[in-house]
Amino acid sequence: MLQLQEADTWKKPAATTWAAEFLLREGESREFLASWINSSAVHEAKKRRAKQVITCSFPCGKWLHMMGARASPGCELCKRARNMDLKATDGFPTETVAHIQSAGCKAQKKSVIGAHNRCWKYLIGAISTHSEATRDLEFIGGDKDRQIKQLWTETRIGNILPWDEIADEAERLLASDQANRQAPDDDHVDKEQEDDQVVDRDETDPYHEVIFGRRRPDSVAVDWTSKVLYVLEFKRTSDQRQNYRERGESRQRAQHDVLVKSLEKVAGEVDGENGGWRIKLIVFVGGTCGSVHAQTLNNNLKELGVVESKRNSVRKGLVHELLNAQDTVLCSYFAQRLGERGEGRSRKSTVEEAFQGLDSFE
Ligand SMILES: [Zn+2]
Repeated sequence: MLQLQEADTWKKPAATTWAAEFLLREGESREFLASWINSSAVHEAKKRRAKQVITCSFPCGKWLHMMGARASPGCELCKRARNMDLKATDGFPTETVAHIQSAGCKAQKKSVIGAHNRCWKYLIGAISTHSEATRDLEFIGGDKDRQIKQLWTETRIGNILPWDEIADEAERLLASDQANRQAPDDDHVDKEQEDDQVVDRDETDPYHEVIFGRRRPDSVAVDWTSKVLYVLEFKRTSDQRQNYRERGESRQRAQHDVLVKSLEKVAGEVDGENGGWRIKLIVFVGGTCGSVHAQTLNNNLKELGVVESKRNSVRKGLVHELLNAQDTVLCSYFAQRLGERGEGRSRKSTVEEAFQGLDSFE
């Protein structure tokens, strides 16, 4: 009887529902997740960690709590960051894989931002390299933390769409938005979101920040031939849920709404040889565990002029970048967690090791 039960369980294991759902999602580039997992160039420890994430058995705080190894599922890194010496971690975000992969975990923020930048740098490089020869696409932005106003001074687009006019229009939209707003729009959205989205809760006034502050778009690209100004944004987000992409896209669209409208208004008022410019917002969403929606990415790449024969290899590269980035973030998490307990091994040095991508956590 026991054997029968075991055989039954083996055939229909109740716990596989999430992993199976994740792996069987269509159109999410799972073929490249498979090629990464089967690649001899990828270290076994990296593969193991990715499999743990997929099978919901990565040993983060929530899992340890479930196994009875921890009193609370609350995030120990957050607790430590707040410098509180409490036994319970109640009131702290749950230490899920999604949480430690988000900038909402303050201790992980540097590593998470690094992961985002690494994937975006790859994508921009791939787009530039594989663009149609006839395309005259100029990317402005780069790695540095500069406001969008400063970007405008680096390109001729400022002669066509003057920044002062864009800023005036944005101020006007923001003022009327403020007047019409009874309650912050984001409120109900945030309540639906769980800890994988806590990163966004920091943003008190994202519209304003996009245009005048630190939250500028990841890049701006100017197509001088077709007269299109692209506002480009890359979002690396937890793909535990099936609708991760739609959610990421709609959030980015909302966040860039005022900027895009301001640009459209100014572009619409320009006459003569500088007239006829169009504004397009393109949002790229990559799942932390390597999900990339093939059709959406292909459409974005097509829009930006990437030759058709190269689109699959660009997508493969992005999936692999995402998986490698996820692993670096997981190693940073381990390093910080071990750093607390390790004897004679300073926290600083272990974190730096992880940033260098060392596989010291076998
Ligand atoms: Zn945390």
